Amino acid sequence: MNLEKAAELSHAEWREMAAKLKQSAETRLFIGGQFVDAIDGGTFDNICPVDGSVINKCAAGKKADIDKAVEIAKRSFKSGEWSRMAPRNRMAVMYKWAGLIGENAAELALMDTIDMGKPISDMLKADIPMCINTVEYFAECIDKVTGSVTATEYDVMSTVLREPIGVVGCISPWNYPLLMALWKIVPSLAAGNSTILKPAEQSPLSCYRVAALFVEAGGPPGALQVINGLGEQAGQALARHMDVSKISFTGSTEVGKLIHAYSGESNMKKVSLECGGKGPQVFCEDLEGELLDRAVTTAINGIFFNMGEVCSAGSRLIVHAKIYDEFVAKFIEKGKDAYICGDPLDPAVNLGPLVDHQSQARVLGMIDKAKSEGGRILFGGAAPANGLEKGAYVIPTMITGVKSNDYVAQNEVFGPVVSVIKVESDDEAIEVANNSVYGLQGSVWTDNYRRAMRYVREIECGTFLVNAFEEGDMTQPFGGYKQSGNAKDKCFESLLSYMNTKAAWFRLN
Ligand code: NAP
Ligand code: MG
Repeated sequence: MNLEKAAELSHAEWREMAAKLKQSAETRLFIGGQFVDAIDGGTFDNICPVDGSVINKCAAGKKADIDKAVEIAKRSFKSGEWSRMAPRNRMAVMYKWAGLIGENAAELALMDTIDMGKPISDMLKADIPMCINTVEYFAECIDKVTGSVTATEYDVMSTVLREPIGVVGCISPWNYPLLMALWKIVPSLAAGNSTILKPAEQSPLSCYRVAALFVEAGGPPGALQVINGLGEQAGQALARHMDVSKISFTGSTEVGKLIHAYSGESNMKKVSLECGGKGPQVFCEDLEGELLDRAVTTAINGIFFNMGEVCSAGSRLIVHAKIYDEFVAKFIEKGKDAYICGDPLDPAVNLGPLVDHQSQARVLGMIDKAKSEGGRILFGGAAPANGLEKGAYVIPTMITGVKSNDYVAQNEVFGPVVSVIKVESDDEAIEVANNSVYGLQGSVWTDNYRRAMRYVREIECGTFLVNAFEEGDMTQPFGGYKQSGNAKDKCFESLLSYMNTKAAWFRLN
């Protein structure tokens, strides 16, 4: 069912579809174009965060399954069936794939909602359109890749060719299960690599389905395989494999560091990392009127959207003392009831549960820690009580009186929790914004473009917005400075990062 029809479905219809899908969704490993059990027959429970029930049992891939998939990927790469396919033909497969994702939008959206609790309306409005966009964008880029001819003496021709790397492993997180996986596997495939995805253990269903759609679109079965399993097992085996030439990882900074180590301890494979964040948003003293209102509304969405489970969430609001009281009052007025917890299958609900009960306990624990360090809870700060006790919910939470070195200001909460820090000057705001091991996304709100430019230049992060937050399109490089990572997703540069350059020197005389 496509997006247009899906947008008309009622809560009851989604519930009915979800019940069927829990029975029918494929949960086995996708290897060589077939769904198969793990070699040792292992499975784990896929838990629904709405009520803690078991959705289904998923095959648990391990090293032996990764080895099998890598063998198939190597053969596929060598055969040239995908790696040497004419660019226009590869583009045709990718466009067809994008079309199939659109035709199966409702099913794919539902899979992420039942797996990790994301509101179905967000899936339809945000995730799925961005997924389609991702496949179309990189399809368009395929025959725009060029090499070069360098300056040499007369009797030499020196060319730089770009070629696919070989077998590429992608490891993805659960917060945007399908989209984050596609940000990795699509440019990898567009570049001609044989690609193996290890999705997050909590949310494999949409990744299996999208891989089957790739094959349905005409992609060779050896070009895209999906192996779910625990990170320390399937993920580690992929990242340590001697025949995997690149790992593209999105997830926590902690695991990102391990991936680097695995590379060094194995074959020195290329590693690209998209990791955590602690996004600063600075609100300057000149803010007033319509711009202040828009700043507040954007800040609310910038932290509470997707339950705050966003690497680039604006989790630290750095507010100038002159506008502090007005800002906080407006944030409470507009933000307190903007996001209401409920069944994510209800199209009217905009806040689902966190991904699992461990996350809920961790987030509530961080709120307690903030209180013990002097933070004041202006709203939220708890799990909801209105019949949602079985779910992993946390209600939107605002904490003021936070200091820059407090635990809650230094660590990624990954929940709907915003910290507000008061500052007296631009100098102090910049110092606070940069007082973080992370550097993913930041913003400044001001009517003064000279001041804005100073923030653009001085805040250490990979993506910076002026009078906006969480905006952008496929042309915009997305990725962090510092311990937020070392790579860029989306954008043409990302496609090139899945290719090697080869210098070819021709002596002509
Ligand atoms: P995570 O725990 O680091 O897991 C990410 C992926 O790595 C999962 O597939 C996980 O498998 C796997 N993994 C875990 N341990 C591993 C190991 N030892 N070797 C190989 N793979 C391993 O992160 P998460 O909790 O899923 O996602 C949330 C994090 O992702 C946050 O820190 C967030 O900021 C970050 N994120 C960053 C971006 C970005 O673009 N910068 C985007 C989205 C999310 P399991 O299923 O077993 O855990
Ligand atoms: Mg799950």
